[in-house]
Amino acid sequence: MTGGIAQESHSFNPIVTRRERFTIVEGPTAVELNRGANSTFGGVIDAAFEEGIDLIVPALFRAESGGPVQHCVFEEVSEIMVNAAKCGNFDAIVLPLHGGMLTERLADPEGVLVERLRAIVGRDVPITAAFDLHAHVKESTLEPLDFLSGYLTNPHEDQSATAKRAFRAAAGMLDGTFKPVLAATFLPMLTLGNDTTLSGPLMDIHAYARDAVTQGRVCDVSIFNCQQFLDVENMGQTVLAYGNGELDEPRKVADEVMQMIWNHREDLIAKYPDLDNELIKVRESERPIIVGDQGDRVAAGGPGDSTYILNHLLANKIDVETYLPIYDPDAVETCSRAGTGTTISLSFGAKYSKVSPSVTADGTVIKIGENAPVLYDGPSDGGTNTYIEKYAVFEMGKIKVLLTNQPYAYIDPDYFRAVGLDPIRAKIIVTRSGYHFQLNFAKVGHVVTADTPGMTSYNVDQFAWRRARPFYPLDKIEFRPRRYERLRR
Ligand SMILES: [Zn+2]
Repeated sequence: MTGGIAQESHSFNPIVTRRERFTIVEGPTAVELNRGANSTFGGVIDAAFEEGIDLIVPALFRAESGGPVQHCVFEEVSEIMVNAAKCGNFDAIVLPLHGGMLTERLADPEGVLVERLRAIVGRDVPITAAFDLHAHVKESTLEPLDFLSGYLTNPHEDQSATAKRAFRAAAGMLDGTFKPVLAATFLPMLTLGNDTTLSGPLMDIHAYARDAVTQGRVCDVSIFNCQQFLDVENMGQTVLAYGNGELDEPRKVADEVMQMIWNHREDLIAKYPDLDNELIKVRESERPIIVGDQGDRVAAGGPGDSTYILNHLLANKIDVETYLPIYDPDAVETCSRAGTGTTISLSFGAKYSKVSPSVTADGTVIKIGENAPVLYDGPSDGGTNTYIEKYAVFEMGKIKVLLTNQPYAYIDPDYFRAVGLDPIRAKIIVTRSGYHFQLNFAKVGHVVTADTPGMTSYNVDQFAWRRARPFYPLDKIEFRPRRYERLRR
């Protein structure tokens, strides 16, 4: 059985993530549509096909990042999954979740969901899961789970492979070849900026962890660099090392890896390139420049309505072919009422993001539409099917503002194609992602994440933290990691 609910939450984003933001799939159609997709769900499906195993999908709810999830949506999914678990017509449960979700009431909804499933199926049915590298993994998450693996890449390109490890762990438990024992190490610290696995400290740390697996010291290692905007207790870095019935080496590896993270703590903090310097390059560049708006990344739970880059373009009179998305349901409504081809004065943006004022400008509504299908080219999440709900394209000079009634991260060029904006024709494209768009837009042009202010900038002392502190780098902490071990089965 597989399914559940996956989203990444931002504690300080006041927009509650409601049911309409979720893409909901279930049953055999979900399996057919997601076969071969580079998502954790796609990985579960492909592993099942490879092993000739049938899958039951009671429901899978997936949404882009945002504010905490409306609690009743979580309860709805939980009830569907628990009822399906009561049927008992399966051998194992493999869950493709995020691990960094919050609901209005819960700090560890993934742990609660697994705990409820465990209460139904008992100890003999394996329950495993695949999480995002930015998950917040704590003791309560690990206690009911037999095995958990996380992505090994940031930007993420191994979603499917991660889920296949979780699937095979469950299969190994069933055929008696795998007895997972876990050593986990936790540390209250954040990585801020220099946390790609393509270079720098995390590339080396992952290489060390990979060697521990290939040398047979441990079966699996996951390094979770917690999402930076989760105000929950015990927030921080988590390292998991699994052995097969033997705990000594996993304990050493988990501690060694965490010690490496701590030793590199200053290197793991970095500033992004300056927006001015990047936009100047537009004049000489033949190819489009695709700018990740670091301060308002929907991919990290930001609201998606920052006008900072737009105001910067207007103030500096940079009037080149630009595609710039802004979440503003009221502006979409106004454009829809005005109709395509009309010229209007429109005020939009910055209802939630407060770093730059709303824009009021004359422009032409060049397109309106709804339910525009999006199919990710990838590689990140390649093959994912989603859609843009209601939208309007508002043209001011050469700048085309893509107004939407839901926030999106625009990690794939197909979001722009979906509304008739050909990425190849742009000089500047703005996305609301910091890492993943870089993989998917690399073939379109020069990709860069620019240092901009906002709710998802790494200036984390802007928030009124209540539960997560003390943590590094906001507080002076000693290196005193927490440890957890799981020996059952
Ligand atoms: Zn992530």
